[in-house]
Amino acid sequence: MEIEKKDIRALSKEQLRDFFVANGDKSFRGNQVYEWLWSKGAHSFDDMTNLAKGTRGMLESNFVINHIKVDTMQRSEDGTVKNALRLHDGLVVESVLIPTKTRTTACVSSQVGCSLDCNFCATARLKRMRNLEPAEIYDQVIAIDRESKLYYNHPLSNIVFMGMGEPLMNYNNVMKAIEMITSEEGLGMSPKRIMVSTSGIPKMIKKLADDDVKFKLAVSLHSAIDEIRARIMPFSANFPLADLRESLEYWYRKTKSKVSYEYVVWKGINDNQESVDALVKFCKYVPCKVNLIEYNPIDDGEFQQASEEATNAYIKGLQSIGVVVKVRRSRGKDIDAACGQLANKEA
Ligand code: SF4
Repeated sequence: MEIEKKDIRALSKEQLRDFFVANGDKSFRGNQVYEWLWSKGAHSFDDMTNLAKGTRGMLESNFVINHIKVDTMQRSEDGTVKNALRLHDGLVVESVLIPTKTRTTACVSSQVGCSLDCNFCATARLKRMRNLEPAEIYDQVIAIDRESKLYYNHPLSNIVFMGMGEPLMNYNNVMKAIEMITSEEGLGMSPKRIMVSTSGIPKMIKKLADDDVKFKLAVSLHSAIDEIRARIMPFSANFPLADLRESLEYWYRKTKSKVSYEYVVWKGINDNQESVDALVKFCKYVPCKVNLIEYNPIDDGEFQQASEEATNAYIKGLQSIGVVVKVRRSRGKDIDAACGQLANKEA
């Protein structure tokens, strides 16, 4: 029976150094391999040209490099690029490159499918198949960085964890991926340019604060009224807004970093004055910004974009208490790359 080989990128630099020492070689060989894997993005052991043939062969017989492959790439008429990425076990995740005049942003996935059940979201229909490994998250970023240079002549400037999956349900792997993205051996990107977006799991928000993370936090709020929020995001019935509020106060006390609330206004769901007033009240608890996001219906069911007047009522309410509010137009609609639309349709 053939033994399944381990992905070498699951090893830390120290573990790689130990591996070489245990195999009668010098520990610095571990540094060389680490550099090939992360800084130089080697896809095979044969690429590691400063290693002796015997060393490459030894690595080959012990490990694999599970790189993700771009399966299909679609470009929207607005310049948005969507990648469907094939993982080593055949599963597919999607990530998106969103260009604007001043920046290019990667929207990356953290799980295949999602653990949660937001009713407006196409990914939720896939259910969670598995968590992504740190290297699989990192590879999405590298693929988009390459495309950003190719199509827009500059490297990727920002990353948002708003693709498939709830990042805080894959906490350790997301943290490891961010460590790599921000390290000098990886992309050397400032954590201030990274935003992790959660559907709002209080215990994990507190953990982020305790772990003293330096990236930004966004919360998909969508309603500041428990009953309405539970209709939109059924799992949130287990996490009342009072608990979410407490965790965000804790986050701000520890990090002094503003929270961004992601909010969609849907017709007949939260397009009323009571919802506006509730959000305005919620926004007073913790320094914050609000992004009102244009919605892309995934079918002709319950969730449809509300009228412009409804959105304007939110803008007026939030501005009256000095909260910065932005209306985010959706990008990449024609290729199903917009918010809530990632569902592996091409896979
Ligand atoms: S919106 Fe995000 S958390 Fe909710 S089901 Fe979709 S991917 Fe999961």
